[in-house]
Amino acid sequence: MALFNDFNFKDRKAILRVDFNVPLNKETFEITDDKRMQAALPTINKIISDGGSVIIISHLGRPKNGPDLSFSLKHLTNHLEKITKRKVLFADDCIGEQAKTLSKNLNIGEILLLENVRFYKEETKGDINFAQQLAVLGDCYVNDAFGTAHRAHASTAHIASCFSLENKMCGLLMTAEIESARKVMEETQRPFTAIVGGAKVSDKVLIVENLMKVADHIIIGGGMAYTFKKALGGKIGASLCENDRIETCKEILSKAADLDVEIHLPVDSIVANAFSADAKIDVANSDEIAEDWMGLDIGPTAAQHFTQIIEHSKTILWNGPMGVFELKPFQEGTRSIANAVARATKKGGYSLIGGGDSAAAAKKFEVVKRISHVSTGGGALLEYFEGKELPGIAAINK
Ligand code: AMP
Repeated sequence: MALFNDFNFKDRKAILRVDFNVPLNKETFEITDDKRMQAALPTINKIISDGGSVIIISHLGRPKNGPDLSFSLKHLTNHLEKITKRKVLFADDCIGEQAKTLSKNLNIGEILLLENVRFYKEETKGDINFAQQLAVLGDCYVNDAFGTAHRAHASTAHIASCFSLENKMCGLLMTAEIESARKVMEETQRPFTAIVGGAKVSDKVLIVENLMKVADHIIIGGGMAYTFKKALGGKIGASLCENDRIETCKEILSKAADLDVEIHLPVDSIVANAFSADAKIDVANSDEIAEDWMGLDIGPTAAQHFTQIIEHSKTILWNGPMGVFELKPFQEGTRSIANAVARATKKGGYSLIGGGDSAAAAKKFEVVKRISHVSTGGGALLEYFEGKELPGIAAINK
């Protein structure tokens, strides 16, 4: 793999795979949040300032049956032109004669944006012929789409096989994401605390099992904590519970004891008599929740307990909220964890927050600037910490 910063793009046509999967207003097709486009700017700028040109490939949404105006990348052209201050051309089809001609005639400093690559089912199928048709458009390949690095799609993985090792590389955004994840797993400063929350145990089993090999503490909050509580014999009322995962929880707890990893569960919870912001609310021990009541956030004692562990940690990874933080009465637990992670970072610890909901929580509680790295990747980050190989990164190294 080539190193992006060492690569000279002068007179080169770089194929750049980005994640421009931005939210659009359904009627006007205006971009409602351009952060994914902004995130690709440093990579685009470096290619252009070297004297190269850029051919951008991205997906947008999940189109089911080929071309569909509501998923067209055409809607991004003007904004891309505005934020890059460069001429942006658009190809109505990501492969074929028009794309070939536009890329052939692309001048230094110009950008060619290709239509949504997922208008072809060959993209998600990882079709090599399709990948080759994309690859002919440029003479080197840069992958900056960390959000899709866990997918073996044509434009994220298979396309890389069409380029020699010295002509393919990760972009700046991708490199920062990998570095940050590597810092947590491979340059771990101790104590290392992993905070795992969110709705379901089943979504987080693999990450908890893999993190147990490295972490000193694992804090478990959110809806998933109640299946653990039930596995320990607790009464959890109407809280979220996956009965078919009770054995898994028992296994995790016993493995953690073997590995000398401390698993921390919330001793108390904010409970409610309905899943609603208007419900009746109380505080209860997490293993003594009355019938018909449900735990929707960690309680004040649990928040204090978790805060102490976090503040004494040197490496912190956080994935998944501590409660239903979207609803005001159940947001304090997640807020206190966000603040504790920020304080630990200020004391010199390294913190990584990742996964859609945790990144949203960091934003909501205004701690983003006080965290070492807030990842843009949801599924990709999760799979990295599950110990899986990410096809988008592996393909660049082959
Ligand atoms: P995940 O996508 O698995 O990280 O889960 C995030 C979702 O879990 C959020 O939408 C939260 O509202 C939800 N959640 C967190 N804690 C609870 C809880 N105690 N009961 C029900 N849902 C929860």
